Amino acid sequence: MFDGLVAVVTGGVSGIGRACVEAFHAAGARVGVLDLDPTGALEDPRVHGVRADVADRASLTAAMASVAHTFGGVDILVNNAGISAVGEVEENDDAQWARVLDVNVTGVARTTAVTLPYLRRSRAAAIVNISSIAASAGLPKRALYSASKGAVHALTLSMAADLVGEGIRVNCVAPGTVDTPWVTRLLANAADPQAEKRQLAARQPTGRLVTAQEVAEAVVYLASPMAGAVTGTSLAVDGGMSGL
Ligand code: NAD
Repeated sequence: MFDGLVAVVTGGVSGIGRACVEAFHAAGARVGVLDLDPTGALEDPRVHGVRADVADRASLTAAMASVAHTFGGVDILVNNAGISAVGEVEENDDAQWARVLDVNVTGVARTTAVTLPYLRRSRAAAIVNISSIAASAGLPKRALYSASKGAVHALTLSMAADLVGEGIRVNCVAPGTVDTPWVTRLLANAADPQAEKRQLAARQPTGRLVTAQEVAEAVVYLASPMAGAVTGTSLAVDGGMSGL
């Protein structure tokens, strides 16, 4: 489906990002992996790992140029890199607010801005952002994180409106709780991590955590010609949590 096309995935070494890299690779794309440390990226001649920090424009500019130089362009951008924040509204200080918004929100805008010159030369340009159920579910103790993911959704809509005339589609995926190293880290300090994990699973009507592959399949769909009429939407992949 993606023969001849190039996808770039930020945060593509771990979890959802890694599953996206594997899914685009399996569908025939060449894939650029931008991550803080790309040494763990999928090893394959059709995968090019580059060090980049979505909070650092110079590193993104150099990394995107490296992918475009290696593979001849960039057609698809997946803004996946993100960091977590736990706490009620007064529990994160100003530095934490600035840092999480810089990575999770400005990081999406910054990476998109750096990639647009390449996407404008593509015949099949698409952007997929990773938002979260946190954008709409009113999750307790997630004030900063939820604000950041709500902003990703709003940014998706606005970018979709601005770019639709240029044939560049912009959508987001809003996952529920996904079984990735992120969740393992989040539960590491719990008294009973397995019991907490079961509770997280029970929150979703399907009774289980979402897999990273299931999120990646939604991302691949939104980036593909099958979604040629889909732009400015948020696709929930959350085991029914937001809809039921
Ligand atoms: P993860 O921690 O397994 O992977 C995140 C990846 O992003 C890592 O490879 C990390 O090195 C990279 N990264 C972090 N900061 C970066 C930066 N500044 N620049 C470049 N790369 C950076 O996490 P995950 O669970 O796969 O989450 C990926 C995305 O999905 C995040 O945006 C997260 O908010 C979102 N999400 C996750 C869940 C979940 O339950 N796991 C649910 C909803 C949304």
